[in-house]
Amino acid sequence: MRAERYDVVVVGAGPAGSSTAKTAAEQGLDVLLIERNAEIGVPVRCAEGVSKEIEQFVAIDPRWVCTAPRGMILYGPDGTAIVLSVAGGEEIGYVVDRRLFDKAVAQQAARAGAEVRVKTRATGLIRADGFVKGVYATTTGEPVRICADIVVGADGVESQIGRWAGMDTYLPLSDIAICAQYLLCDITVNTAFYETYFGAAIAPKGYAWIFPKGQDSANVGVGISGDMSGESSRARDYLDTFVSQRFPNGKILAKSYGAVPLSGPVYETVANGLLLVGDAARHVNPANGGGILQALQGGAIAGEVIANAVRDRDVSKRGLQGYEKRWRREFGRVLLVGLRMNQVLTRLDDHALTQFFQSLGGEITVKRYSERACMKELIRKNPRVLVSLLRLLF
Ligand SMILES: Cc1cc2nc3c(=O)[nH]c(=O)nc-3n(C[C@H](O)[C@H](O)[C@H](O)COP(=O)(O)OP(=O)(O)OC[C@H]3O[C@@H](n4cnc5c(N)ncnc54)[C@H](O)[C@@H]3O)c2cc1C
Repeated sequence: MRAERYDVVVVGAGPAGSSTAKTAAEQGLDVLLIERNAEIGVPVRCAEGVSKEIEQFVAIDPRWVCTAPRGMILYGPDGTAIVLSVAGGEEIGYVVDRRLFDKAVAQQAARAGAEVRVKTRATGLIRADGFVKGVYATTTGEPVRICADIVVGADGVESQIGRWAGMDTYLPLSDIAICAQYLLCDITVNTAFYETYFGAAIAPKGYAWIFPKGQDSANVGVGISGDMSGESSRARDYLDTFVSQRFPNGKILAKSYGAVPLSGPVYETVANGLLLVGDAARHVNPANGGGILQALQGGAIAGEVIANAVRDRDVSKRGLQGYEKRWRREFGRVLLVGLRMNQVLTRLDDHALTQFFQSLGGEITVKRYSERACMKELIRKNPRVLVSLLRLLF
């Protein structure tokens, strides 16, 4: 079998893997980024919405921005609307084209010096002396042994890297959102807002979304809790009902199905010679299912910690602990609050959910958009409701 050697091998060229590869390559490491698919960014399994906070991690490029909504409307079961926006009416985020976005981030990694290889699938871990020492892979069907000081598991929600290393990445059905989405065209869309719809008839223990891709097209999807999915009550059944009521004349340009981990982060994200980033580390906000931001942010932290560990010749779990500490400090709290919000909201029946929406209904404006700022404003608007909701948990 052919053998190769790198400082770091990153498995998976989504936003998390490319961000890690870029940062590690910028620090002078010899990095290989592998992707099992033939094309980075394809297939798209994402509603493609990101908050404005993304600007801290990547320069906005009009080539991959489809729309820039100025607010978000959340509809309760009885139609009560909560309208979130920023004072001054500026955009709160973007709907991107992930086929182009993911390629752009991988291109940044390549420009920084990382080698990028598509049609290359990790099939197992190389291990010795209690350390992960690289991956076995097939590249365009040919087996290859890729040795590295550090392996990064950036292999998404279906991640196997962590499991192969003996880490607990198990997801029960109740911690997974099963999603179905259509890219619809020939419809009338309000490009100024992301829209989400709640209620047991629309999406049990989840929500439906309309994220505008343009004036006459949108990602329209439904995510439901895995334990609510059954025969003829699958996410795609709810989506068909939603679309037939909302966009009866819309034309479907693409159908996609996928899963989102809503468990909150895995217990440990580092091991000897190994580190998990993005969905593989379950770095998704359980309140809304968004993971692109944390994938980029976690990847940037991982790249820096890896560079230090390789330089210091300590790639042990202890040597990589800085990654665990930093992501917990920088976005661990957002994931934790999101987890609690999700636990609270999924316990509410339609009656309680309607009361929740009615108590918060109307316009909520923040000075600068962030998920944290919105949460604070919601609590300010109705402390009693949110406190009583949180009491449900404790
Ligand atoms: C329906 C749906 C809608 C969503 N909408 C949003 C949204 O609007 N906003 C948001 O922020 N997030 C959203 N998400 C979540 C978001 O897509 C993920 O959080 C994000 O893609 C995580 O990035 P990642 O790099 O960790 O993983 P991924 O983007 O999944 O990338 C993992 C990569 O690893 C590759 N890979 C896997 N196994 C191997 C292997 N063995 N060898 C080599 N390569 C491998 C895969 O092919 C893939 O390219 C949505 C998810 C779904 C399913």
